[in-house]
Amino acid sequence: MTPKQFDYYSPASLNEAIQLLKTKDEAKVLAGGQSLLALMKLRLAAPKNIIDITKLQGLSYIKEDKDYLAIGALTIHDMLEQSAVIKSKFTILNDAASKIGDQQIRNRGTVAGSVCHADPAADLPTALTAADASYVVQGPSGQRIIAPKDMFVDIFTTALGHDEVVTEIRIPNFPLRTGSGYIKHSRREGDFAIVGVGTVVTLGDGNVCKDVRIALGSVNTTPMRAKSAESYLRGKKLDDKTIAEAAEKGPEGADPPSDMHGSREYRLEMIKVFIRRTMKLALSRIN
Ligand SMILES: Cc1cc2nc3c(=O)[nH]c(=O)nc-3n(C[C@H](O)[C@H](O)[C@H](O)COP(=O)(O)OP(=O)(O)OC[C@H]3O[C@@H](n4cnc5c(N)ncnc54)[C@H](O)[C@@H]3O)c2cc1C
Repeated sequence: MTPKQFDYYSPASLNEAIQLLKTKDEAKVLAGGQSLLALMKLRLAAPKNIIDITKLQGLSYIKEDKDYLAIGALTIHDMLEQSAVIKSKFTILNDAASKIGDQQIRNRGTVAGSVCHADPAADLPTALTAADASYVVQGPSGQRIIAPKDMFVDIFTTALGHDEVVTEIRIPNFPLRTGSGYIKHSRREGDFAIVGVGTVVTLGDGNVCKDVRIALGSVNTTPMRAKSAESYLRGKKLDDKTIAEAAEKGPEGADPPSDMHGSREYRLEMIKVFIRRTMKLALSRIN
């Protein structure tokens, strides 16, 4: 199918983009187009106005700051895959980005696009939740920062206003002795996740778990933290038995769907398996 007719705008500045979003009826931002255009072609979305932000300058970058890593909204998935700083320090994002669709998708799709689309089965929203990312947003009344726990509101729904644009994603620098990993469980390479799990773990003295964040994807309407498993691990020495015991608590709060890729029961079991595996992967990456 072809999309319904729409008016197309290519603003020259972020302010112009925001004004267009504010004043035009049923307006939508276009970034990589890898999710929005598919929805439009299927007529599941029919925005009257498309605001193409891809020509905006200065929104495609990965920069190290004193306190955090900053990723510009228009940074494509492939840049996360290739970035040396992400490979060495924020490996979880490299794991997630490198498993998205295929190379063509990764050459066009943007990090903020994946976040704003808020597909609960998407890889980056889960990995970013585990990484405790915040979202810098620009709207008609200025800039605000959306906290990690507030961004994903419901299936395909974020905390973003209709006239706001995500400009940057900020990931707090991981403390020393931190390891991270994301594993996507899918039927075939490049498929969406049946279950996706991201883990960031920090060790203290004597290999005791000082802090841990475990995020689950594809098992609820939004990415979710496995809070019971996290609490169980904190303060404990991380051996196989403790990790397995924590993983048993992983499904608490999850409400996965049953579909052609896997039943609800299968997904609940896979949460446990992939918590164990990502914990071990993250721990293996601590220097
Ligand atoms: C065949 C195929 C396979 C795929 N496989 C996977 C996969 O395995 N894993 C996975 O995670 N994803 C997958 N995707 C989705 C892909 O990651 C998309 O790139 C991503 O979901 C959307 O990014 P985009 O830049 O293309 O956004 P767009 O499609 O341009 O936009 C998506 C949504 O975000 C909004 N938006 C975009 N940028 C901003 C912004 N800066 N501020 C405010 N709103 C914004 C748009 O208005 C729209 O609502 C796949 C897509 C396809 C077509």
